[in-house]
Amino acid sequence: MILDLIFPNRCLQCNRIVPCESLVCNICFEDIQFFHFNFVKENSFKERCNLLFPLENAFTLMEFQDKSLSRKIIHQLKYSSRENVGKSLADWTIERINFNDYHFDLIISVPLHSKKERERGYNQLHLYANILAKHLKIEHHCKDVIRKFYKKSQTFKTKKGRGDIENNFELNANLIGKHVLIIDDVYTTGNTMSQVAWEILKEPTNKVSVLVMAVDV
Ligand SMILES: [Zn+2]
Repeated sequence: MILDLIFPNRCLQCNRIVPCESLVCNICFEDIQFFHFNFVKENSFKERCNLLFPLENAFTLMEFQDKSLSRKIIHQLKYSSRENVGKSLADWTIERINFNDYHFDLIISVPLHSKKERERGYNQLHLYANILAKHLKIEHHCKDVIRKFYKKSQTFKTKKGRGDIENNFELNANLIGKHVLIIDDVYTTGNTMSQVAWEILKEPTNKVSVLVMAVDV
């Protein structure tokens, strides 16, 4: 490939030349802040989510700290057009997280607003979610939840309690008695995840678990 010779793929951190499907070199790979705990029923990430919504379990691949390599990787996912970022993250997730004890019925990934997705050309979560869905032998429903507002909703400023929050998401499917694995890239305040979860949990027979690529610690 002539382009590979002119513009070889480089490690995100140290700039060494790496194979075209790699994000980082073997040396820098050791610097990625992977979560090391087993995702048993109770874990600190689940406890954090549980402050906002009820859930079965929570899984995360990496920690997300200032100036960390995981932050660079997520930045590449969001702002570069390198499709292999989502694939690498999915491969690492499958290697590190054991989902065997859980049965999910389907995956829902947090949607972009349709206008934003058109501008970008794709949703950066879809490749990741599709690979996970294939691994778990379930479906990824990328249209079951839609994002209502293009800009971030201002309604949170006036919120008094959970019941007063205007949800930025809307369920677009008839889900009953389903255990949904919700996928997003980064968990920071948990607002987005919580809104998507509550939309699914409006139907009381549904359950949710969450999987994110990184948690802001
Ligand atoms: Zn490197």
